Amino acid sequence: MIAYIGIGANLGDPRANVEEALIRLSALPATALLARSSLWKTAPIDSSGDDYINAVACIDTALAAPALLEAIRAIELAHGRERPYRNAPRTLDLDILLYGDVRIDTPDLSVPHPRMHQRAFVLAPLCEIAPNLVIAGVGAAAALLPLVADQAIERLD
Ligand code: ADP
Ligand code: MG
Repeated sequence: MIAYIGIGANLGDPRANVEEALIRLSALPATALLARSSLWKTAPIDSSGDDYINAVACIDTALAAPALLEAIRAIELAHGRERPYRNAPRTLDLDILLYGDVRIDTPDLSVPHPRMHQRAFVLAPLCEIAPNLVIAGVGAAAALLPLVADQAIERLD
Protein backbone atom coordinates (compact mmCIF):
# COMPACT_ATOMS: atom_id res chain seq x y z
CA MET A 1 0.00 0.00 0.00
CA ILE A 2 1.19 3.51 -0.76
CA ALA A 3 0.79 5.71 2.31
CA TYR A 4 1.61 9.33 3.10
CA ILE A 5 2.87 10.28 6.56
CA GLY A 6 2.84 13.82 7.90
CA ILE A 7 5.72 14.72 10.19
CA GLY A 8 5.94 17.74 12.48
CA ALA A 9 8.10 18.91 15.37
CA ASN A 10 8.57 22.13 17.35
CA LEU A 11 10.52 21.11 20.43
CA GLY A 12 14.13 20.17 21.00
CA ASP A 13 15.97 20.19 17.68
CA PRO A 14 12.97 20.01 15.32
CA ARG A 15 14.99 19.65 12.11
CA ALA A 16 16.96 16.75 13.55
CA ASN A 17 13.78 15.15 14.91
CA VAL A 18 12.08 15.26 11.51
CA GLU A 19 15.15 13.92 9.70
CA GLU A 20 15.46 11.11 12.22
CA ALA A 21 11.77 10.27 11.87
CA LEU A 22 12.31 9.86 8.12
CA ILE A 23 15.15 7.42 8.79
CA ARG A 24 13.03 5.50 11.26
CA LEU A 25 10.12 5.34 8.80
CA SER A 26 12.40 3.90 6.14
CA ALA A 27 13.58 1.27 8.66
CA LEU A 28 10.07 0.00 9.49
CA PRO A 29 9.44 -3.66 8.69
CA ALA A 30 8.00 -4.40 5.25
CA THR A 31 8.24 -0.70 4.40
CA ALA A 32 10.20 1.34 1.85
CA LEU A 33 10.55 5.12 1.77
CA LEU A 34 9.60 6.13 -1.78
CA ALA A 35 9.83 9.90 -1.47
CA ARG A 36 10.27 12.65 1.06
CA SER A 37 9.55 16.34 0.87
CA SER A 38 11.86 19.19 1.79
CA LEU A 39 11.67 20.55 5.29
CA TRP A 40 9.07 23.32 5.63
CA LYS A 41 8.79 25.88 8.41
CA THR A 42 5.44 27.12 9.71
CA ALA A 43 4.11 29.14 12.59
CA PRO A 44 2.06 27.05 15.07
CA ILE A 45 -1.66 26.65 14.27
CA ASP A 46 -3.99 25.56 17.10
CA SER A 47 -0.81 25.02 19.07
CA SER A 48 1.87 27.03 20.80
CA GLY A 49 5.61 27.44 21.12
CA ASP A 50 8.28 27.79 18.46
CA ASP A 51 7.85 27.42 14.72
CA TYR A 52 7.22 23.94 13.41
CA ILE A 53 9.36 21.99 11.03
CA ASN A 54 7.15 19.82 8.80
CA ALA A 55 7.67 17.25 6.09
CA VAL A 56 5.69 14.56 4.31
CA ALA A 57 6.94 11.06 3.49
CA CYS A 58 5.58 8.65 0.91
CA ILE A 59 6.04 5.02 1.88
CA ASP A 60 5.24 1.69 0.33
CA THR A 61 4.23 -0.59 3.18
CA ALA A 62 2.83 -4.06 3.72
CA LEU A 63 1.81 -3.06 7.26
CA ALA A 64 -1.94 -2.94 7.87
CA ALA A 65 -3.18 0.52 8.89
CA PRO A 66 -3.47 -0.29 12.65
CA ALA A 67 0.05 -1.74 12.62
CA LEU A 68 1.31 1.36 10.84
CA LEU A 69 -0.33 3.55 13.50
CA GLU A 70 1.35 1.45 16.23
CA ALA A 71 4.66 1.83 14.44
CA ILE A 72 4.47 5.62 14.13
CA ARG A 73 3.38 5.92 17.77
CA ALA A 74 6.48 3.93 18.70
CA ILE A 75 8.62 6.38 16.71
CA GLU A 76 6.97 9.31 18.53
CA LEU A 77 7.64 7.63 21.88
CA ALA A 78 11.25 6.97 20.95
CA HIS A 79 11.55 10.76 20.64
CA GLY A 80 10.16 11.28 24.11
CA ARG A 81 6.80 12.61 22.94
CA GLU A 82 4.53 13.46 25.82
CA ARG A 83 0.94 14.59 25.61
CA PRO A 84 0.52 16.92 28.60
CA TYR A 85 -2.50 18.59 26.97
CA ARG A 86 -4.22 18.75 23.62
CA ASN A 87 -2.17 20.39 20.84
CA ALA A 88 0.78 20.91 23.18
CA PRO A 89 4.18 21.60 21.62
CA ARG A 90 5.69 18.33 20.52
CA THR A 91 9.11 16.82 19.87
CA LEU A 92 7.59 14.76 17.11
CA ASP A 93 4.12 14.23 15.64
CA LEU A 94 3.51 11.60 12.99
CA ASP A 95 0.13 11.29 11.30
CA ILE A 96 -1.14 8.88 8.68
CA LEU A 97 -2.43 11.28 6.03
CA LEU A 98 -3.44 8.74 3.40
CA TYR A 99 -3.39 4.96 3.24
CA GLY A 100 -3.94 4.22 -0.43
CA ASP A 101 -7.50 5.26 -1.21
CA VAL A 102 -8.76 3.50 1.89
CA ARG A 103 -11.14 5.33 4.19
CA ILE A 104 -10.87 4.45 7.87
CA ASP A 105 -13.09 5.77 10.61
CA THR A 106 -12.41 4.06 13.93
CA PRO A 107 -11.96 5.63 17.39
CA ASP A 108 -8.18 5.30 16.93
CA LEU A 109 -7.73 6.20 13.32
CA SER A 110 -9.32 8.55 10.78
CA VAL A 111 -7.94 8.31 7.25
CA PRO A 112 -7.70 10.43 5.15
CA HIS A 113 -6.58 12.57 8.06
CA PRO A 114 -9.63 14.78 8.69
CA ARG A 115 -7.79 18.11 8.85
CA MET A 116 -5.06 17.56 6.28
CA HIS A 117 -6.83 19.48 3.49
CA GLN A 118 -7.00 22.64 5.65
CA ARG A 119 -3.32 22.74 6.53
CA ALA A 120 -0.65 24.38 4.43
CA PHE A 121 2.01 22.48 6.38
CA VAL A 122 0.53 19.25 5.03
CA LEU A 123 -0.53 20.37 1.56
CA ALA A 124 2.67 22.19 0.56
CA PRO A 125 5.06 19.28 1.26
CA LEU A 126 2.50 16.80 -0.07
CA CYS A 127 2.15 18.64 -3.39
CA GLU A 128 5.93 18.85 -3.60
CA ILE A 129 6.27 15.05 -3.76
CA ALA A 130 2.85 14.15 -5.23
CA PRO A 131 1.66 17.04 -7.42
CA ASN A 132 -1.20 15.02 -8.96
CA LEU A 133 -2.48 13.47 -5.75
CA VAL A 134 -6.22 13.26 -5.13
CA ILE A 135 -7.40 13.06 -1.53
CA ALA A 136 -10.22 10.51 -1.45
CA GLY A 137 -13.53 12.24 -0.80
CA VAL A 138 -11.97 15.73 -0.82
CA GLY A 139 -10.30 16.49 -4.14
CA ALA A 140 -7.00 17.32 -5.79
CA ALA A 141 -4.36 18.37 -3.28
CA ALA A 142 -2.98 21.01 -5.66
CA ALA A 143 -6.42 22.66 -5.92
CA LEU A 144 -6.64 22.93 -2.13
CA LEU A 145 -3.31 24.68 -1.71
CA PRO A 146 -4.54 28.15 -2.81
CA LEU A 147 -7.30 27.94 -0.19
CA VAL A 148 -4.70 27.91 2.60
CA ALA A 149 -2.54 30.67 1.09
CA ASP A 150 -3.13 32.77 4.24
CA GLN A 151 -1.04 30.31 6.28
CA ALA A 152 2.59 31.42 6.27
CA ILE A 153 4.92 28.62 5.24
CA GLU A 154 8.49 28.60 4.03
CA ARG A 155 10.48 25.87 2.31
CA LEU A 156 13.93 25.31 3.77
CA ASP A 157 16.86 24.08 1.69
P1 ADP B 1 -2.80 15.40 16.55
O1 ADP B 1 -1.91 14.66 15.62
O2 ADP B 1 -4.23 15.47 16.08
O3 ADP B 1 -2.29 16.74 16.92
P2 ADP B 1 -2.03 13.36 18.43
O4 ADP B 1 -0.80 13.17 17.65
O5 ADP B 1 -1.90 13.50 19.92
O6 ADP B 1 -2.87 14.60 17.92
O7 ADP B 1 -2.97 12.14 18.08
C1 ADP B 1 -3.98 11.74 18.92
C2 ADP B 1 -4.58 10.44 18.40
O8 ADP B 1 -5.09 10.64 17.10
C3 ADP B 1 -3.65 9.26 18.19
O9 ADP B 1 -3.43 8.54 19.38
C4 ADP B 1 -4.41 8.42 17.17
O10 ADP B 1 -5.08 7.33 17.75
C5 ADP B 1 -5.45 9.37 16.63
N1 ADP B 1 -5.52 9.40 15.17
C6 ADP B 1 -6.67 9.43 14.47
N2 ADP B 1 -6.45 9.45 13.15
C7 ADP B 1 -5.10 9.45 12.99
C8 ADP B 1 -4.25 9.46 11.86
N3 ADP B 1 -4.76 9.47 10.61
N4 ADP B 1 -2.91 9.44 12.06
C9 ADP B 1 -2.41 9.43 13.33
N5 ADP B 1 -3.16 9.42 14.44
C10 ADP B 1 -4.49 9.42 14.29
MG1 MG C 1 -0.62 13.05 15.61
